[in-house]
Amino acid sequence: MRIFDPHIHMTSRTTDDYAAMYAAGVRALVEPAFWLGQPRTSVESFCDYFDGLIGWEPFRASQFGISHHCTMALNPKEANDPRCVGVLDVLPRYLAKDGVVAVGEVGYDAMTPEEDKAFAHQLQLALEHELPVLVHTPHRDKRAGTERTLDVVRESGIAPERVVVDHLNEMTVGMVADTGCWMGFSIYPDTKMDEHRMVRLLGEYGTERVLVNSAADWGRSDPLKTLRTGEAMLSAGFGDDDVDQVLWRNPVAFYGQSGRLRIDDQVTDATATFEGNSVLRGSREG
Ligand SMILES: [Zn+2]
Repeated sequence: MRIFDPHIHMTSRTTDDYAAMYAAGVRALVEPAFWLGQPRTSVESFCDYFDGLIGWEPFRASQFGISHHCTMALNPKEANDPRCVGVLDVLPRYLAKDGVVAVGEVGYDAMTPEEDKAFAHQLQLALEHELPVLVHTPHRDKRAGTERTLDVVRESGIAPERVVVDHLNEMTVGMVADTGCWMGFSIYPDTKMDEHRMVRLLGEYGTERVLVNSAADWGRSDPLKTLRTGEAMLSAGFGDDDVDQVLWRNPVAFYGQSGRLRIDDQVTDATATFEGNSVLRGSREG
């Protein structure tokens, strides 16, 4: 199984994680810029973090045979801190860098006017820089937050196929499926989505426009949840080709829209001979 984790915060993870991920088949990943837990107090603090995402962390990943990419943004939570809003002015410099494959994570945390402003501004930056966008949906007020998120995306004029709306669940997937945006799912050890619920959604909605990630970070999380989802898919009767589509070809297609993916050709070629034995195709595809 070859795996591309489209959302994982490796800065918070250990070298043991990198080794285990490689052994599980992870060959590429995207690390979105996000909230570090400890509030940042200046724009410079963000710049050091952004430099790490395009410098140190790709080097660390490469030592374990994994291709590292990132997304850049002012995250929704810190968009509320006036000391951090200046990040929006330095972002264009970072969005021009190799290895930066999208704008993100953007979206809503508490749905404040400050978040509205930062979200809309960064969608325009994505348009200007011709990059896809990774949109975070809030964990509280999920339904209302997702509805408002989709309104803002629509108003921005960005093409839906260049947007992934992440952290979806049974309650919000339907809203996003109808928009043409990509559907992102974060698989966690004990809360929110797990791999078995994920497999049921794949049965219902199909394997197109779906990204499955571990979203592993400094909280309780598991960087092998992508592998676990692949295993659960196989146990439920999905074929190898379905697993390859969800865990590899879909993230390659989505982030490939940036024109900046650094993927080893051999990883791509080695498994190009899968036979299409798809089962459990979702009715919504038909
Ligand atoms: Zn995240």
